[in-house]
Amino acid sequence: MKRFVLSAVLVFASAGCAARSSAPATAPAATTATHENLHAVLWMQTALEFEASAIQAYRLAQLQLDAALADPGWTAAIEQQGDASKLPPAVIVDVDETVLDNSYYQARLIRDNGVFASDTWDSWVAEGRATAVPGALEFSREAAKKGVTVFYVSNRTANLEEPTRRNLAGLGFPLGDGVDTVLVRGERPEWSASGKGPRRAFIARNYRILMLIGDDLGDFVVDAAGTPAERQSRAAAQSDWWGRRWIMIPNPTYGSWERAIVGGAKDPVAARRAALKYQSPDR
Ligand SMILES: [Mg+2]
Repeated sequence: MKRFVLSAVLVFASAGCAARSSAPATAPAATTATHENLHAVLWMQTALEFEASAIQAYRLAQLQLDAALADPGWTAAIEQQGDASKLPPAVIVDVDETVLDNSYYQARLIRDNGVFASDTWDSWVAEGRATAVPGALEFSREAAKKGVTVFYVSNRTANLEEPTRRNLAGLGFPLGDGVDTVLVRGERPEWSASGKGPRRAFIARNYRILMLIGDDLGDFVVDAAGTPAERQSRAAAQSDWWGRRWIMIPNPTYGSWERAIVGGAKDPVAARRAALKYQSPDR
């Protein structure tokens, strides 16, 4: 009996080997599949190091808010024109991966070996299950308490404005009394592009913008596209503003930083590897 079991195991084992070696080289089985975003999403979801980074960014923002309120000449927006000293104060925050954590959507893509698509994204947003990025709620409430209007400027599309507002309200984010503070892409014809400059300019007409908070260069400058070197130059004139008027939340999972490397590449993995730096003496 024992011998039979053993030979049966051997037969099955070798059958398995034969099957594996003759299998076509297609996508690996789901349980062993790797996903380009696995490591980054794990860091955002499980590392105390991410949580602490976000909290310290928002605490720094709270400190700077007092300095900004006390200085009537202070503005954080390139788009602010003329004398803004008499205008009521506002801050502009981005939504995704700045105040709302969508890492759960990213985790689903990893589980399903999928990529971003507007249908799956829209249903995730409609669920309203995004949680608050650590520190974001405390900062936003503190700003509102000090009479600072918080504007949420997002590249979510116009059809997602209401579910976005519901998600933010459900978490307790301040949503401006009687003022539309959620400004999404395409909400007005002149806001159809992803660039947020026109929306910042719109806010700057009626408010003094004290601070910008985001997870992407595009949350601060007019154009975040280009090579990594070009992106460096886009914010060079305002380099003094980081940590003072501009606060960046770390997001290793996606963004214009990554499009700068893989955008349009036939082989994204090769493009990523080619962008690595080695500091080799012979190069
Ligand atoms: Mg974002």
